[in-house]
Amino acid sequence: MSFCVICKTSTAEKLSTVTEVGLETLRYACEVRGCDDICQFLDSCPDSLFVHSSCHKSFTHPKEVKILKLQLEEALCDRPVL
Ligand SMILES: [Zn+2]
Repeated sequence: MSFCVICKTSTAEKLSTVTEVGLETLRYACEVRGCDDICQFLDSCPDSLFVHSSCHKSFTHPKEVKILKLQLEEALCDRPVL
């Protein structure tokens, strides 16, 4: 059964296959969000990759990802030097 890799469920919403460009965006968003499980799934080169377009859209939202990335960088800078 196919399911959405982002929310990991199969809802009434139609599933779409992820394009190559969409995959790059998805992988980047996963890294920024620290979603290791999804990253690993992407690395396993699955035969088919499905997402809900609404999930993909909100998960990879450029503005949101950018903010998270900045927060991540700030957090790294704030880390005390041991
Ligand atoms: Zn979904």
